[in-house]
Amino acid sequence: MDIHEYQAKELLSKFGVPIPRGGLAYSPEQATYRASELGGAVVVKAQIHSGARGKAGGVKLCRNEREIEEAAEFMLGRKLVTHQTGPAGKLVSRLYIEEATNIDREIYLGFVMDRASERIVVVASAAGGMDIEEISASQPDTIIRVTVDPAVGMQQFQARELAFGLGVDPDIVNKIVPAIMGCYRAFRDLDAMMVEINPLVITKEKQVVALDAKMSFDENALFRRPHIAELRDKSQEDPRETYASDRGLSYVGLDGDIGCIVNGAGLAMATLDMIKLAGGEPANFLDIGGGASPERVTKSFKAVLRDKNVRAIMVNVFAGINRCDWVAKGVVDAIKELNITMPVVVRLAGTNVEEGRKIIEQSGLTLISADTLAEAAKKAVSAAKQAA
Ligand code: GDP
Ligand code: MN
Repeated sequence: MDIHEYQAKELLSKFGVPIPRGGLAYSPEQATYRASELGGAVVVKAQIHSGARGKAGGVKLCRNEREIEEAAEFMLGRKLVTHQTGPAGKLVSRLYIEEATNIDREIYLGFVMDRASERIVVVASAAGGMDIEEISASQPDTIIRVTVDPAVGMQQFQARELAFGLGVDPDIVNKIVPAIMGCYRAFRDLDAMMVEINPLVITKEKQVVALDAKMSFDENALFRRPHIAELRDKSQEDPRETYASDRGLSYVGLDGDIGCIVNGAGLAMATLDMIKLAGGEPANFLDIGGGASPERVTKSFKAVLRDKNVRAIMVNVFAGINRCDWVAKGVVDAIKELNITMPVVVRLAGTNVEEGRKIIEQSGLTLISADTLAEAAKKAVSAAKQAA
């Protein structure tokens, strides 16, 4: 789960990470009021779940009231398109008004969960301000990495090693180390998956501040972090994914026109591959889980149908823990209840497959049956093409 910059900054500052003073605004009028509280030049920052806002006009340095109003008028209510949001963009409904900082140096600082080493890895680069992808392509030799041993946690000397690796002055090292350690403690204590400070800034006044902050959290741990769960902003999410996740379905929205209802993450991935191989484009990844009940199957159909690009649906179930007759009943119930008229391809295999097929055949519905995954994919692709 992602959160906004101002929320991440508020959390990080509680762990001793220095941040500029700032306040939230929902209107141009509030924006100028916040700026008057801060005094002097301010930066108006669009709060959306995306980086690269600067290049898209979502970060603006303002010197007077008129500039602040103009920036706020431009950003609020706009769908800001950055190279991370996709063409649909993300709606700006909050602004963060922050005191302007005199930048001397911009540093990249990131914390990620590295699956290969099963450890938190800290990444830093003297080429801050750019995306990490950009840095690793154009200036890979500036990237420094430190791996944290979970038995002892991050050590001061590791943070110092990073600071010296960045080539900062000795008096700045003592200011950067607490910022790095603070980010690490926030990452660990709040069940984060990612903390990114880009840029971490050394100011002309020789201070260290986190000028930007991005945090994302492990959704499986949100049950024990209610104050983090509360920071969720559904308006920033893909509405298809919000609908599914609110109903306990594991769904990822894609761009194609074949809706997929599958049990098991591995089989769901294989289904996407088979659709692609057959020349089609899947509309989603959806894992309905092990013992999916007929009600859960109906919910899955509802989730898939919220995507208006879907032209055909492919149900692919291999019943191990599950039972094909149960799933078949769910499919038939869903199609009747939801009045589904688009083509539905059903491939069932495993426990009680005969009973399952019988339910499908005797339903009186014009479902398209398939015995193998390859056959199901082919039929779904040609059904979607016909519907188009
Ligand atoms: P992002 O584009 O979404 O990553 O937003 P950032 O918060 O990182 O801002 C983008 C860039 O704007 C930064 O890398 C800075 O170069 C610049 N910027 C942001 N805040 C300030 C500020 O207070 N003063 C100055 N001079 N530049 C700023
Ligand atoms: Mn940034």
